[in-house]
Amino acid sequence: SNENIMCIGCGVEIQTTNKNGLGYAPPSSLQNEQIICQRCFRLKHYNEVQDVPLTDDDFLHILNTLGQTDSLIVKIVDIFDFNGSWLPGLHRFVGKNPILLIGNKVDLLPKSVKHTKLINWMKQEAKKLGLKPIDVMLVSASKGNFIKEALEAIESYRNGKDVYVVGCTNVGKSTFINQIIKEVTGEKEVITTSHFPGTTLDMIEIPFDDDTALIDTPGIINHHQMAHFVDKRDLKIITPKKEIKPKVFQLSEGQTLFFGGLARFDYITGGKRSFTCYVSNELNIHRTKLENADDLYEKHIGEMLAPPRREQLAEFPSLVRHEFSIKEGKTDIVFSGLGWVTINEPGAILAAFAPKGVSVFIRKSLI
Ligand code: GDP
Repeated sequence: SNENIMCIGCGVEIQTTNKNGLGYAPPSSLQNEQIICQRCFRLKHYNEVQDVPLTDDDFLHILNTLGQTDSLIVKIVDIFDFNGSWLPGLHRFVGKNPILLIGNKVDLLPKSVKHTKLINWMKQEAKKLGLKPIDVMLVSASKGNFIKEALEAIESYRNGKDVYVVGCTNVGKSTFINQIIKEVTGEKEVITTSHFPGTTLDMIEIPFDDDTALIDTPGIINHHQMAHFVDKRDLKIITPKKEIKPKVFQLSEGQTLFFGGLARFDYITGGKRSFTCYVSNELNIHRTKLENADDLYEKHIGEMLAPPRREQLAEFPSLVRHEFSIKEGKTDIVFSGLGWVTINEPGAILAAFAPKGVSVFIRKSLI
């Protein structure tokens, strides 16, 4: 049996039966001394990411394993895609283990935003989602900001126990772990990082001492993340790398904004007013009349309205319309994984469109 064969790349258990499943390697490769799963093979040799889904069973298995440990759980979320990168249900599985919630990519938000305000916002949201973290922190893993503080917090909350780091793919978990490794061991780039979702499938242990370690769990793929609907060459357009420059639009009733061809925002009623868009600086925003929006989309998707790319259109899901009535001031309409639009005053009716499968929701303003 293949029971004990692990991929030398990511540590996942090798299987030879399900080509699209996790840990697949062709049967012929079992003759090799060191076996690498197809996914790692592609990544290594072609720099190409394969979207091998973590099945719900695997996900449950990971959660159950965490519940059986006596440990500190560090949960990483992407502050730019807070709800999209949330792992629902974690609190039901972790038992009595404390959870330290870390919001990564804080460098993306405008510098004017106060960290204490963000942290309070995260606490409120966490509570709404059923989680009571022992503490909430912000870091920028790629810039290396607040890593020392995070490590100090981990040290103090772990109480001599193991630490499990969990998070869905693309939150920057590998980048964070690599920073921790640098702090702890002085080594660099022990774990592969990439901005493609789904590259971390490993359980890597970074020893604190002889008995305890920090353990990196596989990234969980959230299928409703926008990243899955975009060609990997376009990921850099939608994934912000630098501080987001908010773009303000003065809109009259009956005007529409397109975010590339990935999302659409219709302003229906509420008088002339301004809307602030927080999306990647690279993503093109196109303004038009609502009455022309359907035609424009049909004619120009894949070209003027891109991403998606033209050659992707056959598989690209159609946009689904969600209508909102704004009852409070300072409200965000969030396009999961793409960004959000802030509405300052109540009394507007609008519609937000995203590809089928990508969630669109309303929240109290983050900024
Ligand atoms: P993982 O899938 O959770 O392991 O995520 P990675 O570490 O591979 O990072 C996913 C993407 O987010 C990559 O493009 C990283 O460059 C980017 N990233 C990671 N950390 C940060 C951060 O602190 N700030 C910003 N702006 N980007 C980050």
